[in-house]
Amino acid sequence: MLYMAGIKVEENRIIEHAIQPKFSVQTIFSVKPDAGSALEALLLIDKYGMALYATIHLHPGEGISATRPSPEDIRNQLAWELGGYKNLMGILSRDGFVRFLRFTSDFAINVIGKEVTDVKDGCCNSRIFRLLETEKIQGEGDQERRLGFCY
Ligand SMILES: [Zn+2]
Repeated sequence: MLYMAGIKVEENRIIEHAIQPKFSVQTIFSVKPDAGSALEALLLIDKYGMALYATIHLHPGEGISATRPSPEDIRNQLAWELGGYKNLMGILSRDGFVRFLRFTSDFAINVIGKEVTDVKDGCCNSRIFRLLETEKIQGEGDQERRLGFCY
């Protein structure tokens, strides 16, 4: 799990930094940030004049369906939103799909970079992108590049 922070320029929120809190629980199916470490990350974001714009985590499966939020994901994101945070939740699959979602308000997002495709299959206040052409990269045997992010 990463906390993605950035700055606001006019009406655009631009993500610039990723902070990884320590985890109190980490299994292949679940990650729970340590409360103290999460607070430290949020204070650090505030100290540098940024705001939390997204939390991103990786699901174990592949394809768009692997980016669907679990009941725990929904509870966590609603807690952020009802607490007044404007952050999105991002869920990555192992083959490079990422779903951004928010439940209590609409949002627009652009993911910028080489080999990023807007899948346009989002529903229910979500947007899905494909970060990398995995077919091209799988042959290289570079797992970290294949994921698009290194967690
Ligand atoms: Zn999840």
